[in-house]
Amino acid sequence: MDTSQFEDILHRYGYKRTKARVRILNALYTARKPLSISEIATYVQNKNASVNTSTVYRTVNQFYKDGLLKQISSGTGTPSYELSESLTSYEHHHLICTKCGYMEDFFCEPRDTSPQTIMEQSPNFVTYNTHSFEIFGLCSKCKE
Ligand SMILES: [Zn+2]
Ligand SMILES: [Zn+2]
Repeated sequence: MDTSQFEDILHRYGYKRTKARVRILNALYTARKPLSISEIATYVQNKNASVNTSTVYRTVNQFYKDGLLKQISSGTGTPSYELSESLTSYEHHHLICTKCGYMEDFFCEPRDTSPQTIMEQSPNFVTYNTHSFEIFGLCSKCKE
């Protein structure tokens, strides 16, 4: 993805184009792993110190509410965010350290039964949105 695709996404979701918004999407796309809001702020401010941290917090929360971002909870109290799969078609799962909250993406073959099929088989659900599959453990730093 490049800047014009980020601009398309903003347009599609009814946002005006601002440098902060484009940079936040770019940070999440480039990282290829979930980032906390403070990590996103560090990235954005490296490129442009004039974007303040409260703008990053507000924008990330709004993007999340509007479905541009997916929130991944590490269990450490600080959630991380990534672009939702509906924007990237980048289907994957996460390895998560339960001590420090470090996360990585991983891929595996699609399973025999899709999450949509599982949900359709339940009499109590009608709409499938998304699914998550997280593996929790300790990273090498935390194991020492
Ligand atoms: Zn760790
Ligand atoms: Zn991810």
